Order: sequence, then C-alpha cells, then structure tokens
Amino acid sequence: MKIEKDCAVRFHYAVGEVGQPATESSQGGEPLAILIGHNNIIPGLEKAMEGREAGDTFAVDVPAAEAYGERREGLTQRIAKKHFGDQRLMPGMQVVLQTNVGARAVTIEKVGMSVVDVDLNHPMAGKDLHFDIEIVDVRAASEEEVAHGHVHGDGGHQH
Ligand code: ZN
Repeated sequence: MKIEKDCAVRFHYAVGEVGQPATESSQGGEPLAILIGHNNIIPGLEKAMEGREAGDTFAVDVPAAEAYGERREGLTQRIAKKHFGDQRLMPGMQVVLQTNVGARAVTIEKVGMSVVDVDLNHPMAGKDLHFDIEIVDVRAASEEEVAHGHVHGDGGHQH
C-alpha cells in the first residue's frame, strides 16, 4: 500500500546537513516506526514519504523551516556549572541537560569559572538537512494507534 495519513511506516534513515556526510543513521539497528499525519517526524520528511511504498529508497533535502526551524537569537542561558556534573566542557560541545520541561539537548557556548553559557536552540535548528530513506514496511494503523497518535509494537510504543 502507498503511504498516506494514518499509515504505520517503518523506515531506515541517514541524516546530515546538506552537503555534509550523514551524522546520524539507523542502519545496523532497528528501523524507526512512525504514524503518518500525527507530527511524529519533521513535516518536510513526512511530506516526502507520501505516496511511497515498502522497498522504496529515496533521498530528500528538507529546508530548515520544514525541519527543526530557524535558529532563534537570544536563546543563550547562563547556568551554574554544578548542573553539568563533572564532565569536561568545551565550547561547541552538545550536552543533554535535565530541565523542568524534561531532557533537552543544548550547545555549550562559553565556559566560565562557575557558570556556563549554553545555546538552547535545537542542535539541528537553522540547518537544511539531507535524508536518505529506505521504506521497510507500510500498513494501515489500528484504531487504537490512531487514537494514541503513535505506533505500537515493533519499533513503536510498548504499553
Ligand atoms: Zn499507545
């Protein structure tokens, strides 16, 4: 069947900035399982999947606006160093901070004696992304999956 709204899709992906080698890939691991039409993945990639079938492979460039959004200025925050534990911090490094809204990936900007300036933009914000995609399988989602807004079973939620 062809991919459309309320399909459960499993796929392999490799992603990197346009013109750069991929920095993240599912090859060698489990494919990702998503429910189409429920904001499970970035909009530009979901759009590129519509109409594809199991076994299809394709590449797509997704502009930042349809990926993780443009970078926003003024998202620098000064945080006490003790919140980073004893890891060695370097400018440009990405770390995951526990915040009151959950875990969040941030980029270190400046390391001081007792405080650290971090950039709260998503690490992929402002970047045009290149995806290589392989569709593994496509099926109609169950009513329960559609109601939950995610896929159950293999590669999906187990609950
Ligand atoms: Zn569920």
